[in-house]
Amino acid sequence: MEKKPFITLEQVKEIVKEYPTPFHIYDEKGIRENARRLKEAFSWNPGFREYFAVKATPNPYLMKILKEEGIGADCSSYTELVLADTIELPGENIMFSSNVTPAEDFQLAAQLDAIINFDDITHIDFYEKIAPFKETMCCRFNPGGKFQIHNTIMDSPQDAKYGMTRPQMTEAFLKLKNKGVKHIGIHSFLASNTVTNEYYPTLARLLFQTAVELRNETGVHIPFINLSGGVGVAYRPDQEANDIFVIGEGVRKAYEEILVPAGMGDVAIFTELGRFMLAPYGHLITQVIHKKHTYKEYIGLDACAANLMRPAMYGAYHHITVLGKEGMPCDQMYDVTGGLCENNDKFAIDRELPVVEIGDYFCIHDTGAHGFSMGYNYNGKLRSAELLLCEDGSVKLIRRAETPKDYFATLDFLGL
Ligand SMILES: *Cc1c(COP(=O)(O)O)cnc(C)c1O
Repeated sequence: MEKKPFITLEQVKEIVKEYPTPFHIYDEKGIRENARRLKEAFSWNPGFREYFAVKATPNPYLMKILKEEGIGADCSSYTELVLADTIELPGENIMFSSNVTPAEDFQLAAQLDAIINFDDITHIDFYEKIAPFKETMCCRFNPGGKFQIHNTIMDSPQDAKYGMTRPQMTEAFLKLKNKGVKHIGIHSFLASNTVTNEYYPTLARLLFQTAVELRNETGVHIPFINLSGGVGVAYRPDQEANDIFVIGEGVRKAYEEILVPAGMGDVAIFTELGRFMLAPYGHLITQVIHKKHTYKEYIGLDACAANLMRPAMYGAYHHITVLGKEGMPCDQMYDVTGGLCENNDKFAIDRELPVVEIGDYFCIHDTGAHGFSMGYNYNGKLRSAELLLCEDGSVKLIRRAETPKDYFATLDFLGL
């Protein structure tokens, strides 16, 4: 499907009068409509709740928009918990799915009354020294082996550091039950960025069966099953996007077949989506500052991998639209680069684009999740601003750009 920016060249020309490129901009309307579709797709389950994976886009303004749509936060660190607290999410709307967890993180999670998801069986004893157990806790499951959908291997849980083995799950349930815990949820995350409607239903089937077994073995009440993240987006124009209604219906079928006959029709379905919630609703807007002709044709942008790491880190595809040239033929071939002293600082290699001129504005698509948040300061590059395109068409600054002073702030103790 053709990828259309949610912003025009005219809008960008207005915005840069106040906020220079590069910047990430988010589409409030798109975010809200997508959140409502997700809720509707799971409306068959009265307890359904999405906990937005904060690490994908840790901006409290965006988290607040999601909160208004009934969405909570999935946190995995101290500062992510602080963000959830900043927007005044009640504890039941905060999921704490961490691993290798420091004591102070558990302490804050307990203080905020978040739902604590234990990644490892040893964390139960570790936690007990820090804070009292709640009536409701959660355990993260890793089934091991390969995770397959039909004959396609999606990922290798056996190689993943997360979660407990099947025997450890039983042991953890009994251990927590002994300590007075009444309700224990189950969580699992087995494959990332899946572009198939079958990921959640397949995972759900596995977790529902495991839940029935665990309930039978331990007698513990299971209040929720957390399908976590992993529902992906179509980064490439030739990919078919997931249909959240088909996904919701697939999970419902598994629920009716497995949980309801086992007398577990009160189980709430939780999700912890990050990418699916925001990726398509963010663009990185950047300007062409150089053109270079050597053995290849290079376009040099004012953004670099420090603003969007996925292409450099994973070789990930991010679609590019040259704003104002949407109708022109893509009859040129360019490498699109940033200015880091790293040869992998390329947003695209051998990308077909229209004829590009210095001063053109590029829209790099699908940067709304795992975009700004993966940024870093390598080569002394500064983090960009984040802007919100509001539903009424106005533009709001939701994070200012860093200045050199920010970059040097942690050196103050040198007293030079
Ligand atoms: C990263 C992560 C998510 C979100 O993953 P997406 O691929 O962005 O949906 C959810 N839960 C946990 C525990 C994670 O680590």
